[in-house]
Amino acid sequence: MTKDRKVLVVGGGGRCHAIVDALSRSPQVAKIWCAPGNAGIAALAECVPVKDTDVAGLLKFAQEQGIDLTVVGPEAALSVGIVDAFRAAGLKIFGHTRAATRIESSKEFAKVLMDKYGIPTAGYRSFDDFREALDYVSARSFPAVLKYDGLAAGKGVVIAADAAEAEAALRSMLLDESFGKGRVVVEDYLTGPEFSFMAFVDGERVYPMPLSQDHKRAFDGDKGPNTGGMGAYTGLPFITEEDRAFAQTQILEAAAKAMCAEGCPLSGVLYGGLMKTPDGIKVIEFNARFGDPETEVVLPLLESDIYEVFSAVAEGRPAGTLRWRKAVTLGVVLASKGYPGQYDKGAEILGVEKVGAKVYHMGTKREGDRLLTAGGRVMMVVAEGKDIRAAREKVYAELEKVSCEALFWRRDIAHWALDGRLLDGKAVSTSIKDALRERVGKLEIKYGRKPSLAVIIVGSNPASQVYVRNKVKTAIYVGMNSRLITMAEDVSEEALLKMIDTLNLDPEVDGILVQLPLPPQIDEARVIDAIVREKDVDGFHPLNVANLWLGRPCTVPCTPKGILRLIDESGIDLAGKTAVVVGRSNIVGKPVAKLLLDRNATVVMAHSRTKDLKSVTLQADVLVVAVGRKNVVTGDMVKPGAVVIDVGVNRDEDGKLCGDVDFVGARLRAAAITPVPGGVGPMTIAMLMENTVESFLARMEEK
Ligand code: NDP
Repeated sequence: MTKDRKVLVVGGGGRCHAIVDALSRSPQVAKIWCAPGNAGIAALAECVPVKDTDVAGLLKFAQEQGIDLTVVGPEAALSVGIVDAFRAAGLKIFGHTRAATRIESSKEFAKVLMDKYGIPTAGYRSFDDFREALDYVSARSFPAVLKYDGLAAGKGVVIAADAAEAEAALRSMLLDESFGKGRVVVEDYLTGPEFSFMAFVDGERVYPMPLSQDHKRAFDGDKGPNTGGMGAYTGLPFITEEDRAFAQTQILEAAAKAMCAEGCPLSGVLYGGLMKTPDGIKVIEFNARFGDPETEVVLPLLESDIYEVFSAVAEGRPAGTLRWRKAVTLGVVLASKGYPGQYDKGAEILGVEKVGAKVYHMGTKREGDRLLTAGGRVMMVVAEGKDIRAAREKVYAELEKVSCEALFWRRDIAHWALDGRLLDGKAVSTSIKDALRERVGKLEIKYGRKPSLAVIIVGSNPASQVYVRNKVKTAIYVGMNSRLITMAEDVSEEALLKMIDTLNLDPEVDGILVQLPLPPQIDEARVIDAIVREKDVDGFHPLNVANLWLGRPCTVPCTPKGILRLIDESGIDLAGKTAVVVGRSNIVGKPVAKLLLDRNATVVMAHSRTKDLKSVTLQADVLVVAVGRKNVVTGDMVKPGAVVIDVGVNRDEDGKLCGDVDFVGARLRAAAITPVPGGVGPMTIAMLMENTVESFLARMEEK
């Protein structure tokens, strides 16, 4: 094999930099030109100042230089027919003909094709009349997906939340013709994770590339406006091999066959923008070229000679089996502050030469020795690792070396793959409550009465009011009788104890609960002791507490019991794990520790006097935090892969409920985490109901 091939790459962004980078590794390629290229590409190729849509100029250049192969990056060049022109002139070029590019350039063409050949996608209709489109959209449910039928540089898709947004978008696309004269495709709204599946395609031959996932929104947590892509990674854990095989055969190969049958065979890259919906994998869109920023994470993994692959596809001969490295890659896009809106150019970027990972330039410029920003998306740093977490840690460590005031980047690339799953206490408690409801119905038939819960609230503490209302509401939902007794803030201890006594003796009452905290004139301990053990559904009575510690039958306190149930229902095994409990109250911290110990976890307890709390929490495979103070545990205090149970209930600056743990930071490292609200709280209430039913049963069976 001789290293004598001359290649021209058309385009200039990060995607082309990755293509040029891959070509530069080919044992056959002697020289690469890139039109127009960019400051990064210039290190590997000779940049030629010809626009990517100047077909005549590019053709002339290729002929003059004796180029062996031209590779086209951007869709704009394909849709103006660069491939048709080069082929007509007898030049070898990698990319689809103008007719085949319609799979991307015309949304309606793609939709009709998918319909005709049974390729799974969202249901749709297309319109050129504003009124008809609006009537159709208004009669359907929201959100609605509206797509301008033509090239709109990634901006032609609107997800309208309501009729007003839909009308504004349709007006802009069909009446104001913001993107030019065209039609609008209205699609069903699908849900699920999106991912990208690219393949080299030559007629019916499809050579799949590794799957990847882009991040379209500008800011962390998928917030902010849509962009051209803020980062990507390979090795998606949520797509099974079965999903991948389905997408390859039923989507990419099916589309390749369909295009042959339609007389416009593909010969280039087919990009499937896919979604894993509850009804299976579906196509969101097809593109007729390499994706950006996906190419920057996918091509570094190619071991085969890319020149050979491009040539084979361009010549219509088999390319053999492509070899890909087993590692995964993760890339973060550095963008100009303000992007995708207004931003400044010309800021100096320092430290890029120190970065020990691939740097693909997107919008940069060199002025002498200085590297300057020259676009919205400026560069992408891509690292490889044995897994996604390793690749992510590497990228962010390398990014520390880059300094430029004018740049920003997302800090949560691959969050779909790495973020802790939510331990959904709300969902688990709902199924517990539904099961209890059924059980209560049967008990009523058997014993002739329903379990009944008496709830006492003293004073008007707003938080207590909310808790009590929730408890009473849930008791009603479960089908129990509930009695709410409200006592004045200044009620005497004696009066409260008397009320408890009456309830103790009432045969129709199975459970008694006094909402804590109590006003200062009342001794909480005396109140807790006053409730007879059999009716103590909170599990706070000294005999219940003693029995819990002695490992004898008892009423287990609701919150600790709920935490353990949530852990069990989530399939988390505690044996041999290190559990750290922060907080040592009698109603949460201590009983939780005892229950964890009973499950053979190694338990460490921390509290307000614990020195260097971080060094303790970092040991935790399971971290339970019950303090009652916001951000007692921050993301850096969580061991990667830990299970985090946040018990605390606090209010943030906006008055919204929040826990003790910095949820966003912790979730980036945790394998699983409870949200607040929606985690431990609903479990506590469900356990209260369960304890009341148990207490009812015990009393009935005693009779
Ligand atoms: P307590 O106030 O009785 O106990 C708080 C614990 O936190 C104490 O052990 C205290 O230590 C410890 N602590 C305080 N500051 C720190 C610190 N900086 N670092 C480490 N530990 C600290 O609270 P509870 O156990 O009753 O409740 C804790 C939280 O859980 C509250 O927000 C409460 O609202 C919530 N909660 C939620 C429930 C639910 O169902 N979701 C149910 C019950 C409670 P020390 O002992 O040294 O003072």
